[in-house]
Amino acid sequence: MRIVLLGAPGSGKGTQTDAIIARYGVATVATGDLLRAEVAAGTELGRRAKPYMDAGELAPFDIVLGMIENGLKTLAQTNPKGFMMDGFPRDLAQAEALDGLLTRIGQPLDIVLFFEVDYEEIVKRLLGRGRADDNEETIRNRLRVYEEKTAPLIDYYTRKGLLRQVKGTGSIEEISQRIQAALDAVA
Ligand code: ADP
Repeated sequence: MRIVLLGAPGSGKGTQTDAIIARYGVATVATGDLLRAEVAAGTELGRRAKPYMDAGELAPFDIVLGMIENGLKTLAQTNPKGFMMDGFPRDLAQAEALDGLLTRIGQPLDIVLFFEVDYEEIVKRLLGRGRADDNEETIRNRLRVYEEKTAPLIDYYTRKGLLRQVKGTGSIEEISQRIQAALDAVA
């Protein structure tokens, strides 16, 4: 199964990945985690991406696309059960690049899971999380970037018939059940 997780920062995508991996055997690619690993390792790529991450802006297209291409190549070879993307695509250009990439390797998406959580709840969650880029100003900017650049992907994937909306509030277990129902329906 080939899955994209879509939702605002703090909508709970990362929290649900382990359960999805356990049930469906997919491998996961999370661009935020990959970028943080590059920053921690002090690579050239990490040095380029860091100012954007600190400001809550999208990292440059070429950096992120390169990471995704590498990640997918490895995954396609090592995991026949498919993959799940968290944090990618994040704007229209990334979504179109992903389409092209997946068409080329003959592995189109099966489903885009959209986590629906209201704005107030998201700010509360992010402020409680305490990651380096979880201060109030960066959060506000990440939400602005989400609204402006990422939210249009809801329409994009709806038009492709791939979007399934999941209510992202309630207990982790409840949300997990909803996701399972949505994924079982396309599995
Ligand atoms: P969150 O889901 O809380 O926003 P992420 O770990 O997904 O956290 O992303 C953290 C930061 O990494 C983003 O604010 C952005 O700077 C960068 N980033 C992650 N994914 C992408 C992407 N697909 N394109 C550009 N930048 C990205």
